[in-house]
Amino acid sequence: MNQITIESLINLIKTYNPDAIPQVKKAYELANHLHKDQYRQSGEPYIIHPLSVAYILAEMHADCDTLCAGLLHDTLEDTNIKKEEIEELFNKNVATLVDGVTKLAKMNFSSKQEQNLANTRKIITSITEDVRIIIIKLADRLHNMRTLEYKSSFKQKENSLETIEIFVPLAYYIGAYRIKSELEDLSLRYLKPDAYKGLEEQKRVIEEESKDCLQEMLYKIQILLNDRNIPNEIKVRTKNIYGIYKRLEQGNKLHDIHDLLALKIMVDEVENCYRTLGIIHMLYNPINHRFKDYICERNRKTNMYQSLHTTVFGPDERIVQTQIRTFDMDKTASFGLTAYWDIKKGEARYTMQKELTNKFQFFKSLTEINNIFTDNYDFVNQVKTELFTNNVYAYTPSGIIIELPLGSTIIDYAYKIDPENAHNMVDAYVNDEPVAFDYEIKNKDRIKIVTSKLSPGPTEEWQTTAKTIYAKTKIKSHIESRKIV
Ligand code: MN
Repeated sequence: MNQITIESLINLIKTYNPDAIPQVKKAYELANHLHKDQYRQSGEPYIIHPLSVAYILAEMHADCDTLCAGLLHDTLEDTNIKKEEIEELFNKNVATLVDGVTKLAKMNFSSKQEQNLANTRKIITSITEDVRIIIIKLADRLHNMRTLEYKSSFKQKENSLETIEIFVPLAYYIGAYRIKSELEDLSLRYLKPDAYKGLEEQKRVIEEESKDCLQEMLYKIQILLNDRNIPNEIKVRTKNIYGIYKRLEQGNKLHDIHDLLALKIMVDEVENCYRTLGIIHMLYNPINHRFKDYICERNRKTNMYQSLHTTVFGPDERIVQTQIRTFDMDKTASFGLTAYWDIKKGEARYTMQKELTNKFQFFKSLTEINNIFTDNYDFVNQVKTELFTNNVYAYTPSGIIIELPLGSTIIDYAYKIDPENAHNMVDAYVNDEPVAFDYEIKNKDRIKIVTSKLSPGPTEEWQTTAKTIYAKTKIKSHIESRKIV
């Protein structure tokens, strides 16, 4: 990658927010002065690091305060400046952001030491104060992972593991897919170097082999879209190496991975997404059960990702996934919450925090867990089991996709889809077969809940069987309210 300089940073900022340039220059000069005698392990001047972090933030079209904080993010920890001085020189926002990032020194999920637990809780809950702190921290981690080769092999493994456990889920929850997949690949490279190299080579071969086929599809689809005056842009993408690794680990064969190769088709508006879908199905045979509509409200993913997915047989019977979305949806798909900087401009900061509170399931669960547990160990443990594990996806009888943490039971499902009626659950069916309430949900299960007014209601056993804090809390308060009556 090219070395980032203050000139390249300024040039990038010029493209979307020229008003920020004087402040950014000022922040750069201060950071450059404060870090002047410091060097990175690579031997480069230290300033390269904050410059690169600011550059990553500028790629997301970050606002002026965030850019300044990105440049200054290591000054409180590594130099003599005080928070108050940053506030005086810039403003309260910049000072709070830098301070927030500094406090998130080190999260450690495996440690049982009180100090570490308290710290971990702080980093996780800081997202509730100002999500920009987490975004700066993600950019910081991304640049550190990109330059990990200069660290000892112990540090490489330790940082990679922490990245997979904490920063990848955080990036996922705010919908920042681009950062997420780069962090995943960088981590795998150090955690499983042999597997990584093997897959990197296989991926290269597949990309080479499928190039003509994908170009042909791209070309044909584009002609039909242009004929219909649908503004469009089409890109080829292959799954990231970590994603492929995960699928193979689950026992899949390389050629069975249906989204290994994909065409990303961007159009101007929602209606044209569906017209594009029609065009694709007209040209190529779809694999019927591989169609997913993440645009319509009821199927919306909890991290706000929106797209139509349909997997088709392309030329040479090659399986190709197509992802159809609008240009704005694509910004959200790549950058998640941080896309708001670009889409909502001046109001971005406010809208980001508001959307996070209202729409992102992650945030709701986090707030619930934070309110319930006073003990740091219990808090960290619950967050780890509930939020930082993989999810399973089940269907309601009418085809709505429900996302739950791995290990969730029928009880969690019932409370997630309808907390009021869940108290009256008497029976449950998975794929038309009756199951017990402690049945552990698997991917693609179609689940039907039967309720009855005559139900005796939830018991303490339900509370133990539930895995999510949401279901547990609902059950607990229902049982308590019954006791009062
Ligand atoms: Mn840093």
